[in-house]
Amino acid sequence: MSLENLKSQYDLVVIGGGITGAGILREAVRAGLSTLLVEQRDFAWGTSSRSSKLVHGGLRYLKEGKFKLTWDSVHERVRLLKEAPGLVEPIGFLWPAYKGQSPSKAALGAGLWIYDLMGGKKQHASYSAQDFARLVPQINTNGLTGGMGFADAQVDDARLVLRVIQEAVAAGGQAANYVKAKALVRNANDELTGIVVEDTLDGTEKEIATRAAINATGFFAEKLQPSPVEGLHLRPLRGSHLMFPLWKIPIGQAVSFIHPKDNRPIFAIPWEGAVMVGTTDLDHAQNWDDEPRIAGEEAAYLLDGLKMMFPDAGVEEADCIAAWSGVRPVLSSGDKDPSKESREHVVWKHKGLVTITGGKLTTFRLLALDALAAAAPFCTKSLCEPKDSRIFTPVPEKPDDFLSLELPAWRRLFGRYGLAAQELVKSAKSEDLETIPGTNSLFAEIAFCAGNENVRCLADLLLRRVRLGFVLEKGGEEHLDRIQSLCKDALDWDADRWQKERQDYLALWKKAYSPPAQREDG
Ligand SMILES: Cc1cc2nc3c(=O)[nH]c(=O)nc-3n(C[C@H](O)[C@H](O)[C@H](O)COP(=O)(O)OP(=O)(O)OC[C@H]3O[C@@H](n4cnc5c(N)ncnc54)[C@H](O)[C@@H]3O)c2cc1C
Repeated sequence: MSLENLKSQYDLVVIGGGITGAGILREAVRAGLSTLLVEQRDFAWGTSSRSSKLVHGGLRYLKEGKFKLTWDSVHERVRLLKEAPGLVEPIGFLWPAYKGQSPSKAALGAGLWIYDLMGGKKQHASYSAQDFARLVPQINTNGLTGGMGFADAQVDDARLVLRVIQEAVAAGGQAANYVKAKALVRNANDELTGIVVEDTLDGTEKEIATRAAINATGFFAEKLQPSPVEGLHLRPLRGSHLMFPLWKIPIGQAVSFIHPKDNRPIFAIPWEGAVMVGTTDLDHAQNWDDEPRIAGEEAAYLLDGLKMMFPDAGVEEADCIAAWSGVRPVLSSGDKDPSKESREHVVWKHKGLVTITGGKLTTFRLLALDALAAAAPFCTKSLCEPKDSRIFTPVPEKPDDFLSLELPAWRRLFGRYGLAAQELVKSAKSEDLETIPGTNSLFAEIAFCAGNENVRCLADLLLRRVRLGFVLEKGGEEHLDRIQSLCKDALDWDADRWQKERQDYLALWKKAYSPPAQREDG
């Protein structure tokens, strides 16, 4: 969206187009505020496209005694499963128990009872060693005493952000990608009166009048508003994942296990036809303007854990399809062990500017409500009480016309695109209603996203509208000719532009999404 299309004044400006900003935009529009969201790169460019893609209660928080956080997360999970089927889907988790290892099966069982009580439904089971080994055929059986199974949920994180933004825009909000909040404008009393925004693609600028802004910029937050608490600052912590083909680690459910090196829980989770293994947790010392990327030692750590848990699978780094890293915005007052830092969110306010950072994807709606409550006194208009608290417009259980797709494919499309799924399918050629080999995405999604979802470069399309760069070898290079031809009407790019886009995408993929063993610099 060009700066000319932005109004000169808004009740509220939201800075940052990750899940936190998207949720705030959605709730602010519902509360009757004229609201603009600006994102300096692409929507979900930050941590919100690089998470572990779980909508989860967080057993770990229970262990730390954080009952309120677990309660909120469990309830948001239940809500999202109900409101966004096809986008947020249930996933079973298995947790093996080993002799002498903590947590023991009994401790896990106790935690899971509390988890289920909070969710209002018994959703866990206890397994003998023999049954557990049947459920996870290649698991290490040495010292295995059994295990537990429980229910959580998973999501396509970038599509969650996009769908929340789309809902907000349909309800009257505005959202602009590649627009950066460059400077805050304040009056003589230090009150916020506006924001200077910059189109990061052409360098043009515009001043927008507003009395209230919410800084939802994740680990960048202190660039706009330094922490008001002495000695407490954001500590960016990187978490990385490796992606493997499902046939290499054939699991039907997610498996959580303890890494032998440092006793941290790590996991292998089936997602979009492949298996993600994560995560690490270390200080992020890379350049913040670049896409974060996995370091060689993180890949080695994850691989060590995997080899210990699946000794017969014969997994090597060469089997890895892709990798990605996200950065956690964690508030810290010292240098504790990264994994012991609190993941709870904070809200700061100063004369018109509210900062919200930390938290989880799962609880984005609650973060949004907290941020809005803090911003309300600064807004020129009072917030109205919304009649409906649903984030997502309900979608039909089945389409008017199935065309050539089965119900599960429709469910997936309704989840990711909302009501627009019907238009996506109806506007597609029948040969494009096939899945892209090695993925669950349809070729038709490519053309639809290119034409309807503010795609400004090829990476927007292949990393965040569909997730080819996360699930295909070499970033899906073998499909680029067909992708180019699918987009020829939707994207006004000539042959030179296409060549440059392809080169830039592949270079970016190699730098930030390829496994370290495939990079020249390791
Ligand atoms: C490895 C990892 C795994 C995780 N897994 C899970 C999980 O499975 N489930 C879960 O619930 N949570 C998970 N989380 C947490 C969750 O991903 C984050 O809490 C969440 O994505 C943060 O969203 P955000 O919108 O606050 O930040 P971000 O997604 O980082 O968005 C901030 C945005 O602000 C933009 N921005 C910065 N400065 C400006 C500016 N001046 N103007 C305009 N835009 C700006 C950035 O470009 C960025 O896109 C995980 C986190 C990590 C790191």
